[in-house]
Order: sequence, then structure tokens, then C-alpha cells
Amino acid sequence: MLQSKSTDNTESPALETQDADSADIRDTDIVFDCPHCGKSLVIDYRGAGLQIDCSSCGERVLVPIPDGMQLTDLDLDAGEVLKQLFATRRNFQKAELQIQELKTRLTQLQETLGVMQNVIAEGLAKD
Ligand SMILES: [Zn+2]
Repeated sequence: MLQSKSTDNTESPALETQDADSADIRDTDIVFDCPHCGKSLVIDYRGAGLQIDCSSCGERVLVPIPDGMQLTDLDLDAGEVLKQLFATRRNFQKAELQIQELKTRLTQLQETLGVMQNVIAEGLAKD
């Protein structure tokens, strides 16, 4: 029995990046460069604004939203939206942690600077 390939696109396609050099690019596809490895990538328009793994280097990349595209044009299912929401929250938490780390480091540097300024002031006073 032959498996007929469904032509109506009721199933959402797997949202993954492909190598733009070898991929079959459709008009609706988004073509962009991976910010990590510079590889030219292509993805279905439904990937706009989502975080998808780069097919080349495996890093998570943010797919650009083409000019003039409305987010309401996207018909993502709830599961995908939820997944993205969690990914965004995780990234947000990571960023918050980094900010805390940087603030701690900044405080340390300010303390060090204060000590050095005192040393310099004392050195100048001795002259
Ligand atoms: Zn990459």
C-alpha cells in the first residue's frame, strides 16, 4: 500500500532551522544568519520570533520577525507557545542571575578602587 503524502497542511511543520545552501526555500520562509556560527539558515515563517536550535552549531538562535509580519499571522498551537514562554522565562532568569553577578563584581571593583584611591592619596600626602 502506498502512503499518500498529504497535501493539505493541517499539521504544523516541524519548526527547525535548515542549511539555507541546501534547503528548498519557499517564499514564506525566513532566511537569516546564525549569530553564533554565521551560517545562513532557513526556517518556516511560523518560527518567527521563536528560539530555535541552529542546524549547524546547535546553539539556540532567535529567529527574526520579518518586517511587516504580524504576530497574529502565526497560528502556533498552545503547546508550542507554552514551550517558548518557558524558554523565554529561563533565559530571563539566567539574565537576572548574570546581572546579580555583575552587580557583585561591580561592588568588589568599587571597593578595590576605593582602597587604591586611599593608597594614592596617602602616597601623595607623604611627598
Ligand atoms: Zn549556528
